[in-house]
Amino acid sequence: MLFKNRVIGACCIFLFPSICFGTNYDNVVKKMQDLAANHPKIAVMMDIGKNDSGILIQGLKIEKQPGFDVVVGKTKHLLVGVHHGNEKLGADVAIKFAEDLIQNFSLEAGEADDSWEDTWQGLEDRVLYVIPVLNIGGYNANTREERSSGGSSVDPNRDYPDVCVQQKYFQLASTSNLARFIEKEEIIGAVTVHGYIGTFTYPWGIFTDSTKTLDDSFYREVAKASVAINNYRTGTHTDIIYPAAGAFEDWAYYKFGVWTMLLEVARSPDIQKDSAAMIKYFSQLPQERSTQHQHTGNCTQTKGSFPSRP
Ligand SMILES: [Zn+2]
Repeated sequence: MLFKNRVIGACCIFLFPSICFGTNYDNVVKKMQDLAANHPKIAVMMDIGKNDSGILIQGLKIEKQPGFDVVVGKTKHLLVGVHHGNEKLGADVAIKFAEDLIQNFSLEAGEADDSWEDTWQGLEDRVLYVIPVLNIGGYNANTREERSSGGSSVDPNRDYPDVCVQQKYFQLASTSNLARFIEKEEIIGAVTVHGYIGTFTYPWGIFTDSTKTLDDSFYREVAKASVAINNYRTGTHTDIIYPAAGAFEDWAYYKFGVWTMLLEVARSPDIQKDSAAMIKYFSQLPQERSTQHQHTGNCTQTKGSFPSRP
């Protein structure tokens, strides 16, 4: 029995370390610190400020040539995991994404896999921020919600201002700090990582009679090229999953024109493929935010509570 458990444990650790170990946030920070220490020319630790418990929300700033943005205005992009604390694989995908970026940015010209050379060249003039865990309290307790300073249990992915529904927002320091970061750093593209449906979706996810944005054809094209790698379903949040109020992805697109997408990793994901699909996504983004991100449909009547996406 002991042997059997050890075998299962070993497989589990290899595939999904955060689930089998019940990993806490300290381990995620340690992984990031190790990456930064081992690759100081490519990755540095960063943070967006503290959460309601006074814990620093940390991430990595990754770029091929630090300081190069003095010459060319580098565009900045963000991958953020674990709005929902019980969707812990989001942190694993984010760390894998960071590792893959660092590994490939470490290669000399001509060393990259030929079929990916254009993709990597497309990322060389970009800064990529990776924040594996936004909801640290939820991550450590394996709960979806996060506690506000007032003691309320808040769903972080319905804590943003909504296009259609009047509701409370920015009750959490984590979400308001992330919003401030998006604005201050002029983030161009952003992916949030959730679980576990196996989809990669784009706005609108709001309660609207017209689920397509004016950017729908562009979104469809870049999403299709990305999911060709991990075989996920794609489309708008509303059409593929269901509408929600107060989600990050709709807020950042509507407010600033950030090219946002929501990755719902599969229940038993191939994390390597998920990471590659995200690399493909970011490499296709333009240098500017959308300029036609307004909502052109009509908000639909909503009844009862507003479920947020998984
Ligand atoms: Zn979620």
